[in-house]
Amino acid sequence: MIENDVIRSKLISSEELSGFGDTDSLASKTGSLLKQQIATWQLCSKNYSDLKNVEVKQFDFDDFSIKVQFNPGRIVSSSAKVDSKSIKERKCFLCPQNLPREQKGLLFGGEYFVLVNPFPIFPEHFTLPKFDHLPQNIIENFNMMLQFARGFDGHYTVFYNGPKCGASAPDHMHFQAGNHGFMPVDTEYDDIVKKFGNPALEENDVRIYTVTEYLRNFISIEGESPERMQVAFEKFYSVYEKLSQGDEPMMNIIASYRNGTWRVLIFPRQKHRPEQYFREDERRILLSPAAVDLGGVCITPREEDFRKINQDDITDIYRQVSANKEYILFFKKELQKEAGV
Ligand SMILES: [Zn+2]
Repeated sequence: MIENDVIRSKLISSEELSGFGDTDSLASKTGSLLKQQIATWQLCSKNYSDLKNVEVKQFDFDDFSIKVQFNPGRIVSSSAKVDSKSIKERKCFLCPQNLPREQKGLLFGGEYFVLVNPFPIFPEHFTLPKFDHLPQNIIENFNMMLQFARGFDGHYTVFYNGPKCGASAPDHMHFQAGNHGFMPVDTEYDDIVKKFGNPALEENDVRIYTVTEYLRNFISIEGESPERMQVAFEKFYSVYEKLSQGDEPMMNIIASYRNGTWRVLIFPRQKHRPEQYFREDERRILLSPAAVDLGGVCITPREEDFRKINQDDITDIYRQVSANKEYILFFKKELQKEAGV
């Protein structure tokens, strides 16, 4: 357990926060926190200002688009060593006692911080760590993801990177959040599900779809009740867990809440990093896919990769790291079997 006074010392006062904008909802408080941090924290100010000049290119596929962002600030995260030895040897950057002096946060749900991510991809990018230094674990924290999404109420999308597929702090439970609509999937989802969505299950007001025509195959859960969403996620998880050996099965999750409905997209993974990542010649592409990349914004921290990456590379990288079609269809069958459909 972390000392309460350490946590208290990292919380921004409502008085200070209100000097930077509205504070009448979680989303507005979060937006005001970013303004305060930019005004008082040099690293944060520089990195958000640099972000305005990052180059982006876009690849248009038939029914959707993929953006590529050249973001040198992300090199540390993209090339992070996440083996257990490297993790043990570094000081955890999400533990309250290790946060930079200037970093302040909001309290959420009694056990989480809302912090500004000082190495942004989104124009407004947040890290949502638990106070305690406990490993990344979705099944125990899924409900908190729903609560965050509801709190952000369509302003920010929440995402989760599994400990073995994108989290650069696999040893410290956290989510992230960024502007809703920044990742193409936020706005493409409705059309994609209409066109390609395969209804897997619909019961108790929860709707589960599988999509296998979107380069990165996914399963979505939609619903209006957090309890029923939780039950549906647990069903999916129990099927997926059987296929992996002990560890948390690999997945990235993107969740949002709008007009009373949650939408949770699960991207099961078969690989953490594509073979391009490990090449030792000029064909190397340093792209380490996590939730944002699967959401349709591929991050290349090296300029040479940004210049050379093409549509075929993107298709190939998604194919390698995502669960294949047979896998997704297996989930569908198992979920239906369990529901007696
Ligand atoms: Zn920690």
